[in-house]
Amino acid sequence: MNKLIRFTSFVLVVVMVVLWLGYTFPKFKILAEYVRFENTICKKPVTYALRNVDQRFGITEQEVADAFDKAELVWELEASKELFQRVDTHQKHDVGVVFVYDSRQETSTKVSDIEKQISAKSSILDTEKNDFSQKEQSYLMMLTEYNTLVAEYNSLIARKNQLSTEESDQLNRIGQRIDELLVKLSEQEREIKGDVVNINKQVSDINADIGAYNELQGGNGESFREAEYVSIGNNRTIFVYEFPSKSVLSRLLSHELGHVIGLEHVAGEDSIMNEYNTSRRLTPTNEDVAELNRACNRQGAIQTLIAERLNNK
Ligand SMILES: [Zn+2]
Repeated sequence: MNKLIRFTSFVLVVVMVVLWLGYTFPKFKILAEYVRFENTICKKPVTYALRNVDQRFGITEQEVADAFDKAELVWELEASKELFQRVDTHQKHDVGVVFVYDSRQETSTKVSDIEKQISAKSSILDTEKNDFSQKEQSYLMMLTEYNTLVAEYNSLIARKNQLSTEESDQLNRIGQRIDELLVKLSEQEREIKGDVVNINKQVSDINADIGAYNELQGGNGESFREAEYVSIGNNRTIFVYEFPSKSVLSRLLSHELGHVIGLEHVAGEDSIMNEYNTSRRLTPTNEDVAELNRACNRQGAIQTLIAERLNNK
């Protein structure tokens, strides 16, 4: 009986150990892989592959590859070594890249269409405003001439009975010119009034566009929501959601590649690693460089990283 209890306990313990190992082993594997990855960062290039680029982005894989080349250079020139290496999808790689087409890129396309519209309308408006101001100028000159002639006419009329023949002729000529001017002035006045209405209409049209533009922009947010780097266990993925142009795409990719090698957000509006994607610069700032040095010189930095990753950054 005693033997049976001992045997059963032994079997139970063995079963529990096996279960525990089965449960923790994958975690150990992930941890080991994680430590390997973190330890080789900046020492060995991180490999990445384009897994999927949604066609609706209207960008070819070659163009994405070119954007990545520029993005890599931002950090590699500073570090003076290869930090990233693009490989084929079927090859083993540390990080996958996926372009996800959703409302964000759609909105972005709309925004850039409106932007183009606004600038086209504005340039038409500028030309019209220019014409208008020339018209206004000529109207004012004519008005001055008219006023001068009326004064002259009145002074001649005042001594109508003592005028020489020459002066009488002059009076007639002035009278004719005044009549002419009156017709032209009223014509121009009508035109100018029409122009003012037209210009005001265009201005309010452009303002409506700007309103729509701001609304779309506002809904879009300004932080790096256009792309993100997600690291869960050994699954490391750069997701790209929207980019208004290829140069902005390089900047986005550069930011995310920075996260891949452990860079944190830094201050400075122009910084690649700034939290908000407002600048268009593709050169690292002093803050970026300091952050790159910190991340690549990671004695003890791994702990910080692990803590941050656990916070699901
Ligand atoms: Zn970021």
